[in-house]
Amino acid sequence: MSDATPAGRRTSVLVVGAGYAGLTTALFLAWRGIRVTLVERHPDTSVQPKAFGIVHRSMELLRQIPGLAERIAAANVLDFAAEATITIGRDLRDENQVELLVGGDDVMKELASMTPAAFGALPQSKIESVLRATAEEQGAELLFGHRLESFEQDADQVRARVRDLGSGEEFAVEADYLVAADGWQAPVREQLGIGTHGLGELWRCRTILFNADLDDLLAGRKALLTYLQNEHFSGLYSYLENAIEVFGVSGAHLLGVNYYPERGDRDEDFTDERCVELIRVATATPELEVEITDQSTFVIAHRVADEMRRGRVFLAGDAAHVMPQTGGLGGATALQDGHDLAWRLAAVLHGHAGPALLDGYAAERQEIGESTADRQLARLADRMAPHLQGKYPFPPEVPAQWEHLGYRVASAAVPGAERGRQTLLEDPATATAEPGSRAPHVLVDKDGTRMSVLDLTGRGHVLFVGSPGSGWLAAAKEAARTLDVPLPAYSLGGDLTDDTGSMLRRYRLEPGAAVLVRPDGYVAWRADEESADAAAEFGRALATVLARTAAG
Ligand SMILES: Cc1cc2nc3c(=O)[nH]c(=O)nc-3n(C[C@H](O)[C@H](O)[C@H](O)COP(=O)(O)OP(=O)(O)OC[C@H]3O[C@@H](n4cnc5c(N)ncnc54)[C@H](O)[C@@H]3O)c2cc1C
Repeated sequence: MSDATPAGRRTSVLVVGAGYAGLTTALFLAWRGIRVTLVERHPDTSVQPKAFGIVHRSMELLRQIPGLAERIAAANVLDFAAEATITIGRDLRDENQVELLVGGDDVMKELASMTPAAFGALPQSKIESVLRATAEEQGAELLFGHRLESFEQDADQVRARVRDLGSGEEFAVEADYLVAADGWQAPVREQLGIGTHGLGELWRCRTILFNADLDDLLAGRKALLTYLQNEHFSGLYSYLENAIEVFGVSGAHLLGVNYYPERGDRDEDFTDERCVELIRVATATPELEVEITDQSTFVIAHRVADEMRRGRVFLAGDAAHVMPQTGGLGGATALQDGHDLAWRLAAVLHGHAGPALLDGYAAERQEIGESTADRQLARLADRMAPHLQGKYPFPPEVPAQWEHLGYRVASAAVPGAERGRQTLLEDPATATAEPGSRAPHVLVDKDGTRMSVLDLTGRGHVLFVGSPGSGWLAAAKEAARTLDVPLPAYSLGGDLTDDTGSMLRRYRLEPGAAVLVRPDGYVAWRADEESADAAAEFGRALATVLARTAAG
């Protein structure tokens, strides 16, 4: 909730946009007890399904909030995920459609073995409505039907003007920080004058939601998505049975038609009559009766902001990096930006971390966003846009599992992580809890319950030590007291039983070793052996990890 002031409202963090990035930021801030206000110009979360499926890493983060993973799982809509395909063809009656991807493949199986989280088989629209409800329950103030009109900032705060689109009333909001999760059009980025790089806009896709009786055509269909290429248009088609009921969208079928503004194409050209014609071509059903229920536009672009932060304003999600959908990681990158910002902002606002911790957001998320955008672009060129080959220095291909769970981070608050020495991507199956690596998922027993080590992380930083008598335990207690921060610690052989030896192996947690894990499950610091001066050494490490001076 925000406080009323004579001039308007006062909140700690003002978030603009209720997509993946904004909702995740608001949810995780509220969960940590930070006052957050989100404004979204639309009356509700999206009615367009947008990205389908929520990947393991995103679910790994969302499940930190008790009950949320179960809530998402309960909303799962696909009972054929293991057989689902993505195809490409002329139209939906084309008997020579080519399968681009087949679900339940080795990649999905390997991912499932590397994380306690399950893939969520549901569309973005459904997940966003779950995130909205959960954020509101956690105390976030979500103002739908409200638009950010303008803002200014100084060294101490951000002052914004927000319009209630229902009443037309405009009011002021003061905040410590502004998170611009305002999507691909990025009005806040524009106002800040932050430039972008990349290939830019490639084309636009007009998405048409419609209802029609296509039962004969779709019986037994297992394709989540079919890319269409014929002499009339190129685009995509998606259908799921019961889409209206389970997704909360207005039409069961979605046709996306690519168009090119530089050739004079405009949104207004998609009249209902033209859309019906296009749908008849896509379905190869000339007399089909069609009801158009909604239209929207999304941009196929490769555009990365030059900066993700200007003063007290942060860019998150598509506002910072728009990427082609090929690979399905655009939505995930947005959600993970939101999670990253939330734990950093909360740590700073609670006084646990120094403001310099926020520098790590841009340092870490910029290179991950950039790499993901480049890789999605490379897949676009490979699968359906050969004319892009040679137009951009695509990064070398890596296994999909690396892109999902193998990103490494490097910033000033991760002592020992160096981009020069460490590559941006690694194999998550063999990663061994180095500073900057994602902490591996291993099963341990705690109080008689089997659980993933990752389930002990989330709210704040957590320390794991190799033995109950470790000198790092007392050092951590002392450092946490000095810096006045919570720091739960778990010892192998004491709090945790590692029957299989997998924690010892994957974390290299010998009796004298210690591993400090961040709220996002990344290793912030490690020691391989006991220290003669553990108190001083750990005190310095924790101060660095929290961007605090050694004294404060
Ligand atoms: C039809 C469609 C299909 C897609 N398919 C895929 C896919 O298959 N795979 C994939 O990875 N990605 C896909 N994407 C992209 C993916 O959905 C985005 O990457 C993701 O939504 C980005 O989340 P975000 O929170 O950054 O932005 P968005 O979800 O775009 O949210 C931004 C929000 O900000 C709001 N806003 C903007 N300005 C203001 C303002 N001034 N005041 C208040 N509110 C404002 C907007 O109304 C919007 O709700 C698709 C997108 C669309 C539209």
